[in-house]
Amino acid sequence: MNNRTTKVAIVGGGVAGVTSALHLAQMGIKVTLYEKRTSLVDGPPWCHLHAGGNLYREISDEQCVTLLKQSIDFVKFYPYVVDYRPTVIALPAEDRGTVKQLLPRLELLKTEYQNLVSLDRSNKVLGDIEEYYRLYSLEKMEILKTRSIVDKPKTIDDWMIPVAKNLDFDTVQFPLILVQEYGLNMFRLAAGSMLAFGNLPHVNIRTETTVEDIEKENGKWKVSYRDKQHQMHEEHFDYLINAAGFKTGEIDDMLGIHTERMVEFKASYISKWDAKSDIMFPEIIFHGERGTPRGMAQFTPYPGGYFQLHGMTNEITLDKEGLVKSSATSAQPVLQDKLIKRIDEGWDRETIHERTQNSIKHVAPFIPAFAEAKVGSKPLFGAQQIPGDDPTLRVAEVSFPVDDYARCEIVKVSSSIDMAKAIAHNLVAQGHLESDVLDHCVCNHTDLMDERELNSHAQKIATQRGYPSIMGKRNVEKPPGVNKIERIHNEKAYMDSRCEQRHWA
Ligand SMILES: Cc1cc2nc3c(=O)[nH]c(=O)nc-3n(C[C@H](O)[C@H](O)[C@H](O)COP(=O)(O)OP(=O)(O)OC[C@H]3O[C@@H](n4cnc5c(N)ncnc54)[C@H](O)[C@@H]3O)c2cc1C
Repeated sequence: MNNRTTKVAIVGGGVAGVTSALHLAQMGIKVTLYEKRTSLVDGPPWCHLHAGGNLYREISDEQCVTLLKQSIDFVKFYPYVVDYRPTVIALPAEDRGTVKQLLPRLELLKTEYQNLVSLDRSNKVLGDIEEYYRLYSLEKMEILKTRSIVDKPKTIDDWMIPVAKNLDFDTVQFPLILVQEYGLNMFRLAAGSMLAFGNLPHVNIRTETTVEDIEKENGKWKVSYRDKQHQMHEEHFDYLINAAGFKTGEIDDMLGIHTERMVEFKASYISKWDAKSDIMFPEIIFHGERGTPRGMAQFTPYPGGYFQLHGMTNEITLDKEGLVKSSATSAQPVLQDKLIKRIDEGWDRETIHERTQNSIKHVAPFIPAFAEAKVGSKPLFGAQQIPGDDPTLRVAEVSFPVDDYARCEIVKVSSSIDMAKAIAHNLVAQGHLESDVLDHCVCNHTDLMDERELNSHAQKIATQRGYPSIMGKRNVEKPPGVNKIERIHNEKAYMDSRCEQRHWA
C-alpha cells in the first residue's frame, strides 16, 4: 500500500467534494475532482454555521450537540470562511412557545462547549464560554436604544445597539437571546479552495466536466466523463466519492445502488437597505412555524447594506412542490421542471421581484424601517439532499454502501469535516491508506493563504455569479478572544470515537 499511488475520484465540487479533496490531498492521496459547473462551491447557498442548531427548535438535543461539535471543527478547518458576528434569537409575541422553553438547550450547549474546550483548548473558537449566550430584557434593550451605534462592535452589548434601535419591541417576547452562532461566506470558500488547490500537487480539478457513467472494471472504478469541449473520456480509480449534492441519487443509480432520500428546493433573497449600509447588524432570527404564513424569518447581514433573507413560508423560501422523495425504481428524487429550470437557467425578473418583496414584508413587522429595503440582486437558491425520510434531519455525513465507495450526504456544511475524516478512516479500513497518516498528517491548507488575494478573488467570484461584489467580503474577522487554530493531537483516536458515536465504522 502506498498513499501516493491510491487514486480517488470525487464527483461534485461543492463543500462536500472540496473538503474531501483538501483533506485527502494533504494526506498525499492522488485526487481527481469532477465538477460540471465553471467554478467550485457553486451549489445551494449556506450562510449560517449552526454552532448549536439554535435555529431549529424542532430537532433533538443530540443533533444540536453534534452540530456544535461539528461547527467547531469547521471553524478550525475553514477559519477564513467564518463571519464572526453573533445571532439574535427572538420569539414573536404571538408565538406559542416561550423563551423559557429555549433555555435548557442553551445551557446544555454551553456546558458542552465548556467540555470541548477542557478537552482541547483549540476548541475555543466561539468566544468566551460564559458569553456563548446572553439574555436581553426589555429594560436592558431600552437602555441600549439610547446609546450610539458603534462602527465596529467589540462587546456583545455593542452588537445589540442596532437591534435596540430598529426592533419594534411590541412584536417580540423578552428576553431576547444573543448567541455565538456565526455567519459563513460561501464565496470565500469558493475562492480559498481554488487558491489552496493551486498549492497542492496531488489534486486534479476538472471543472466544466460532467460525469456521465461509472462502473466497476477489473476491480477499479471506471469513470466516463464529458469535458468542456464535449469530448468523452474514461479514467480508472481505486476509490470513488459521490459528492454530487442533490444529484447523489444519479450516481447511486449508475452503480445500481438503491437508497431512500429526499431532495428539497429552497431559496433566500438578497435585499438592499441603503439607509443602513454602514451599520453592522448581528444576524436576527424570528422563530415561527415552518410552512405556515408565520414561518421563521432570518435576517442575515452582509457588508454594504445587503441582507440575505429567508422566510420559511411557501411564498418565500419554500415551495409547495419543493420537497420530493426517491422512488422504488430510482435513488434520485425528481424535482418539478420549473424548479430544475430555476437551478439550471436562473429566475425570471418578475418572480425575483415578487419573492424578494415577500421576504422584505415578512421581516418588516419586526423591523418597521426595513420596509423601505429594495431588491438587492438575484436570489441565492438551490436544492439539497436529505438522506432517509425525515425532512427535519439536520445532521448527516457519509455512508459506505459498498466497497471503495463513499456517499456524502451532508445536510449542513459543518458536517463536512467529520464526513472527510470518516472517509479517510474508511480508506484505511479498505487498505488504501496507511493508518499512521491519520496521526501524522497536518491538514492545514490555510497556511499559505494571502488574505488580500483571497478577498479580491472572493469578490470577483461573487460578481461573476451575478451578485454584488461586496458579498464576497465578510463583515467581521476573527475577534481577539478566539484561539489560534490548532490541530487535534491524535486524529486517529479522535476519529475512532467519533465513528463509533455516529455509526460510520
Ligand atoms: C436556500 C438554502 C439555504 C441553506 N443555508 C444553509 C446554511 O445556512 N448553512 C448550512 O450549513 N447549510 C445550508 N444549506 C444547505 C447547504 O447548502 C448544503 O448542505 C450544501 O451546499 C451541500 O453541499 P454538497 O457539497 O453536498 O452539495 P453541492 O453544493 O450541491 O455540490 C454538489 C456538486 O456536484 C456537482 N455535480 C452533480 N452531479 C455531477 C456530475 N454528474 N458530474 C460533475 N459534477 C456534478 C454539482 O454541480 C454541484 O456543484 C442551505 C441550502 C439551501 C437550499
